[in-house]
Amino acid sequence: MKISIIGTGYVGLVTGSCFAELGNKVICADNDAAKIKGLKKGIIPIYEPGLKELVIKNTRKKRLKFSASISEAVRSSDIIFIAVGTPSSDTGEADLTGIENVARNIALNMNSYKLIVEKSTVPVETGLWVKRTISTYIRKKVRFDVVSNPEFLREGSAIADFMHPDRVVIGAESKLARDLMLELYKPLKSHVVVTDIKSAELIKHASNSFLAAKISFINAIARICDKVGADITEVAYGMGLDKRIGPGFLNAGIGYGGSCFPKDLDAFIHISEKIGYDFKLLKNVREINSQQQQLLLHKLKEHLWILKDKFIGVLGVSFKPDTDDIRNAPSIDIVNYLEKEGAHIRLYDPSAMPKAKKLLKKVHFCQDAYSAARGSDCLLILTEWDEFKSLDLTKIRGLLRRPLIVDGRNMFKPQDMQKKGFTYVSIGRPVVLGR
Ligand code: NAD
Repeated sequence: MKISIIGTGYVGLVTGSCFAELGNKVICADNDAAKIKGLKKGIIPIYEPGLKELVIKNTRKKRLKFSASISEAVRSSDIIFIAVGTPSSDTGEADLTGIENVARNIALNMNSYKLIVEKSTVPVETGLWVKRTISTYIRKKVRFDVVSNPEFLREGSAIADFMHPDRVVIGAESKLARDLMLELYKPLKSHVVVTDIKSAELIKHASNSFLAAKISFINAIARICDKVGADITEVAYGMGLDKRIGPGFLNAGIGYGGSCFPKDLDAFIHISEKIGYDFKLLKNVREINSQQQQLLLHKLKEHLWILKDKFIGVLGVSFKPDTDDIRNAPSIDIVNYLEKEGAHIRLYDPSAMPKAKKLLKKVHFCQDAYSAARGSDCLLILTEWDEFKSLDLTKIRGLLRRPLIVDGRNMFKPQDMQKKGFTYVSIGRPVVLGR
């Protein structure tokens, strides 16, 4: 099939490359001319395992092209995916300027039947607005359909998630639209949910909010564990064995971040309010999440007392492992706070440092975890990269000024850390004191 993807970011680039890999002819378009110029030369703007290889392979096979011309992309394809960003505005409402802009652009360039696919995460009823916008601005008398096809990929495992999804959701109104989408996704042999557009839009917001709620729930239980001296890892394990609960998303820590959960929750709370429902549950989820960062800082201060002129080694800045994405990463606020208090930050992250350097100007960026630990008063773990699990902890202990680790991601077992001589502070688990 001839496909174009408008918006070549984390979702657009992965979606385009994967559809090309499945044998379709794909144009990935973006209004960021520099990004497109780079992609044409094989420069991948994001770190995502396996993506570079997929882009290069499919570009060579002439199944994948890049263009800065949205009109060209629209005119030469039958199926158009909208995958532009839908950030939070100041009020928390989803800013749909990009979606509207693309919808108008599509309308002006439609030369034959087009299937327009809402891939970006949008509030319920956006599909309706996209349809209205296209009907208003369309020049030629050609038919079109709008479908909702929300994306559930996770950064860090995006290609595997796209190729082997738990489910594909298709919200469609016409038989033609539904059949085209089913044909397109047929090679994935996945479970497909076919529904109406509004329900499909809601599936995405409801799923992300539910996952965020699960994280906040376990973080709230961790607070109780802290108070009574229980161990949240044990509690989460015992809960997760119940098939009705499941073990996923039960890791206590400094809370969720990233470009999706915070903004999708804001948008869902906002749209609910707009249609007359006060989603108090989600407001609490959001509040618990923001308290987790304060909790970590409180724990840190309990051990370091004064932060001014302390050296703090920070491990991890990306909002989660296996990505270089730092959008809404809890680490950014934490580092900013520590710097405001006068601490000196020595930071290491396996892949997100180039992006972090643009944002954290005063931080000293290190070549590895050991350099971050050298001469520091404390090692603070903010992202649970696998690489950190295999650190030589005896070496780390020797490099630190004092053997203190504050772990915002519960990466290690407290007893093991005590044996290694660390004072080890984590979330929802008893503190162990080093020798
Ligand atoms: P992104 O910021 O990485 O990419 C968006 C791209 O759209 C950018 O390259 C930008 O230049 C381009 N763009 C913006 N306005 C445009 C316009 N008018 N015309 C052409 N291009 C335009 O964003 P992302 O992370 O890929 O997210 C895209 C959407 O997918 C969002 O709605 C997001 O919530 C959703 N989503 C993201 C993820 C994720 O893990 N990142 C997962 C599922 C869904």
